[in-house]
Amino acid sequence: MDLHLYNTLTRQLERFTPARPDRVTMYVCGPTVYNYAHIGNARPYTVFGVLAKLLRDQFGHLDYARNITDVDDKINAAAAERGVGIDVVTAQYTEAFHEDMAAVGVVGEFAPNLEPRATAHIPGIVRMCERLIASGHAYAAEGHVLFNVDTYEGYGRLSRRTVKEMIAGARVDVAPYKRNPADFVLWKPSTADLPGWESPWGRGRPGWHIECSVMAEEHLGQTIDIHAGGADLKFPHHENEIAQSVCAHGGAEFARLWMHNGFVTIEGRKMSKSLGNVLLIKNLREQAPAEALRYLLLNAHYRQPLDWSDSALKQAKTTLDRLYGGLRDLEDVDASGVSVEADSVKAALADDLGTPQALAALSELSRDVQKAEGPAARASAKARLLAAGSWLGLLQQSPQDWFQSGNASIDVARIEALMAERQQVRERRDFARADAIRNELTELGVVIEDTPQGARWKLL
Ligand code: AMP
Ligand code: ZN
Repeated sequence: MDLHLYNTLTRQLERFTPARPDRVTMYVCGPTVYNYAHIGNARPYTVFGVLAKLLRDQFGHLDYARNITDVDDKINAAAAERGVGIDVVTAQYTEAFHEDMAAVGVVGEFAPNLEPRATAHIPGIVRMCERLIASGHAYAAEGHVLFNVDTYEGYGRLSRRTVKEMIAGARVDVAPYKRNPADFVLWKPSTADLPGWESPWGRGRPGWHIECSVMAEEHLGQTIDIHAGGADLKFPHHENEIAQSVCAHGGAEFARLWMHNGFVTIEGRKMSKSLGNVLLIKNLREQAPAEALRYLLLNAHYRQPLDWSDSALKQAKTTLDRLYGGLRDLEDVDASGVSVEADSVKAALADDLGTPQALAALSELSRDVQKAEGPAARASAKARLLAAGSWLGLLQQSPQDWFQSGNASIDVARIEALMAERQQVRERRDFARADAIRNELTELGVVIEDTPQGARWKLL
């Protein structure tokens, strides 16, 4: 099966082929651990996790690295405020991040197998700075090491910006020691109260961008197949990663394919700490089952914005209620020995991670299950639905667990029974009873939609 992915660098859909089929590599920029993760942060790890599973299936393996940024000025500020070391802050939020990721199903084949931490790579960072200085791409000034953007002609290629636009966009410090105002920091000095490491330029700490270049090189090699992250990382972070890595490696390509997810928004505005409109995963998990969070994250195509709302979350949960309700009806059916392929779901995902189409295919398979007659047909329909769900990390718990873990604020079985009865009485043209059923459903908070494919229900 061919895998087609949209490459931000070429602005084209491309058929994916790894540089070396025996070693497929992917790097996704990881979190800066100074706070709890919000649901926007979960988007790249959820969607690119689905990609990781596809790649692992297709090539038999994948080296997938997702770093932890555990030295950063925001971490320093959080630690200083609490009067503790940065390791206390980063340990706490790394653990919380792992808990959140596990809850939303970013585990196993959906998770990275490499999780490098920036602070464990300081010697490599110093060496890359030295290499860049030796080759004339970087220079030391007043305890800093800066990358000189004039020395790399590809600068701006990914984000398609000119250096002038980049200076305006990044609101860069126009420090007197910079050769070009767009030059960016590879290493910076630390005062005694800040974390720091000894270096040829005095005690200091790394800039954010070089951490990823070094971790990618150390764990995945000079050229990686896929590099991904949120669209806000295109510039300056990814642009700077490219400049550093290409120049440190004598011109070798850094990443062959770049992928960027769109933003989770609230009422059309990007969810971000600076706007103060974040919804933390840990709080959302109290509001809805984590699988519903995952469903909603997959419900929009990864390159499109995803507008988060209570009603969208409720709808995601209702859909899962319906899917698990269908599986509950098949509890007596043993599908364990049936071998099936989830072709429709896989095909949707292989087309630039078409998760909305994959979810539609999942619902279609669920309808097939309801229509299937006879033990063999029911077993194979159930097996197909479960196999399809496994590609998305959905429907993998037992229906009892889903309904018992406090998820079911509604009685799906009762609703489904009323829907079925309404169908029968309408066929008998007993409209009085049909109306009575509709009223009963309204009291349960359910609205009925009559469609050409039959009646459907959803929660108000
Ligand atoms: P950070 O910890 O801020 O570096 O962010 C971790 C990841 O979340 C990065 O890949 C960001 O691009 C991504 N991200 C941050 N905010 C959003 C958002 N509102 N929607 C989607 N992705 C986001
Ligand atoms: Zn990065």
